[in-house]
Amino acid sequence: MTAGFDQAGPRHEEAGAWLTVDLGALAWNWRRLRDEAPGAECAAVVKADAYGIGLERAAAALAAAGCRTFFVAHLAEGARARAAAPGAAIYVLNGLLPGTGPAYRAGDLRPVLGSREEVAEWAALSRETGARLPAALHVDTGMNRLGLAPEEALTLAGHPDLAAFTPALVMSHLMVAEEPANPANRRQIEAFAAIRQAFPEVPGSLANSSGIFLGPDTHHDLVRPGYALYGGNPMPGRPSPMRPVVALRARVVQLRRVEAGESAGYGAAWTAPGPRRLATLSVGYADGLPRAASGTGAALAEGQPRGEAVVAGRRCPFVGRVSMDLTIIDVSAVPEGAIRRGDAVALIGDGLTVDEVGARAGTIGYEILTGLGRRYARTYMDEGLGLTERV
Ligand SMILES: *Cc1c(COP(=O)(O)O)cnc(C)c1O
Repeated sequence: MTAGFDQAGPRHEEAGAWLTVDLGALAWNWRRLRDEAPGAECAAVVKADAYGIGLERAAAALAAAGCRTFFVAHLAEGARARAAAPGAAIYVLNGLLPGTGPAYRAGDLRPVLGSREEVAEWAALSRETGARLPAALHVDTGMNRLGLAPEEALTLAGHPDLAAFTPALVMSHLMVAEEPANPANRRQIEAFAAIRQAFPEVPGSLANSSGIFLGPDTHHDLVRPGYALYGGNPMPGRPSPMRPVVALRARVVQLRRVEAGESAGYGAAWTAPGPRRLATLSVGYADGLPRAASGTGAALAEGQPRGEAVVAGRRCPFVGRVSMDLTIIDVSAVPEGAIRRGDAVALIGDGLTVDEVGARAGTIGYEILTGLGRRYARTYMDEGLGLTERV
């Protein structure tokens, strides 16, 4: 790719908010994670539209950076990843649903098999096809969500079903990797090491983004970061080693004044404690801005954090309820004249990380990213341009 821009979504001047995605930072993050796990292959998890940033562009940028293995959640996402990364190995985490075998074959996709039934179906398909089709085996080491029980996996070791296809990866998933002191990590690491001894020929994979930073015991042959690629902090509470990938700016549609005692927004859920200057932004919960980030009196009384925007370098809180298409902020701290109708203010970026935006809505940055709306004018930037140069 050459340095430049690429647009998607509505036209810039017609959109209420602008999303900028730095594909150069995405590639930088992938290399950073690869270097954190030397000796292991670094794959990329691009499920849920690459955590909301756009699957095709993310997968193409990562493939250009050298990524050779991708994970998606759904079969339909696998087909999109295949088009963007023709030579890559693509695994579908949610596994083999009945009747989907032919679609896997047609798309050259690999299911992550998580039960005895799935293993039997994949083995049968391989026999019918006369080819040992590749797939991953998912073994559960404590999460109780997907995967074969360890005992089931061990009985599979000498079974003809396993010989019928190509087990290309054996994997498990950590449930508390972002809490390094949690003893469950050690239990899962040990359980997975025991599983791997039963499949000595098969490459192993355990670590997600946070798992990579737990150290070499989690690295095995392949690591599977998602969130950290997109700028999320894999080590909550510590300085983030990742670069931000996403910036979001919303436009000011109105500026107004309120006097003490006046309310703002639906339900009159916020009351001005004194004269205030407010700005109304052209973005709302229909765009993925969480309603839980509202600045209501009840939330303030309970000490809940509320959403913030960055305007001319200053933090400005959300006031009243976030509505479908609009959000009100208090810009009293910004000098008059420093904000005008039509200006764009930061909701992600300018020091507001996706982790903080999530925390301010009582959720996680993952949910903020995967909820990024379809009404944003999107600008994709390549290598060589800083996020702040465009927005
Ligand atoms: C989503 C997912 C990942 C990536 O996790 P992050 O925390 O986003 O790095 C890795 N492995 C599995 C099985 C997943 O479901």
